[in-house]
Amino acid sequence: REMLSIQGVTKTYNAGKPNQVEVLRGVDISVARGEVVGLIAPSGAGKSTLLHIAGLLDVPDAGKVEIAGQDMAGRGDRARTAMRRAGVGFIYQFHHLLPEFSALDNVVLPQLANAVPEREAAERAMMLLEKVGVGPRASHRPSALSGGEQQRVAFCRALANKPGLLLADEPTGNLDPDTSDLVFDVLMGLVREEGLSALIATHNLELAAKMDRVLRLDAGRIVPA
Ligand code: ADP
Ligand code: ADP
Repeated sequence: REMLSIQGVTKTYNAGKPNQVEVLRGVDISVARGEVVGLIAPSGAGKSTLLHIAGLLDVPDAGKVEIAGQDMAGRGDRARTAMRRAGVGFIYQFHHLLPEFSALDNVVLPQLANAVPEREAAERAMMLLEKVGVGPRASHRPSALSGGEQQRVAFCRALANKPGLLLADEPTGNLDPDTSDLVFDVLMGLVREEGLSALIATHNLELAAKMDRVLRLDAGRIVPA
């Protein structure tokens, strides 16, 4: 059974205007349960647009998005928000952690928003932070952490609500090459341990080679890499 199925998705910005951009021209992607799929795309190819549509942060002009077997196209805002909160984890190139909160609280808060009891949320947050080696820094604010540590906390936050699907947009693209390799291995370890399905966009072919399958987004369509 598929965890993510995208079929015939199209997206055009500024339709009908002189500055019209036809970004996605019929994209089909499926990610099986437990599968990690890489997505390679030149800058401007529509990778972020595609990930936002897959993560229910944006809607396609046409086509189907199914997550965990549920067709999300015809669903209302409420169902989409519930799926986005509990079913999908998102990681960006920049950590986007809340600056006023500790690493621990950054991982606890999404769980509270998902009605997880506080004690249970704190235990899971600590368990995740320890797994990625940031346990000793749990009480620090993001500004007191290194770039690699910040990104590892962002991974924990994305996984806090035990999503089935992880979407990542250049998850280590902001780090220097050596840190990037290490932090990427930490991410892959977490993904495998939690049995996640993932779609991970990267420019880095070496990192892509660690995934189960690699796709390329080219001229608005998916082609084998
Ligand atoms: P990528 O992540 O591959 O760099 P994006 O999905 O961010 O690509 O953008 C794809 C194309 O769509 C780019 O040409 C970009 O300028 C354009 N684009 C993205 N978002 C918008 C928007 N909100 N309005 C108009 N054009 C957009
Ligand atoms: P990197 O080169 O890996 O990005 P840094 O040189 O930024 O790492 O930091 C090295 C160590 O010092 C890290 O463990 C980081 O958490 C810690 N650190 C960095 N800045 C601060 C700070 N302002 N307060 C406390 N610890 C910090």
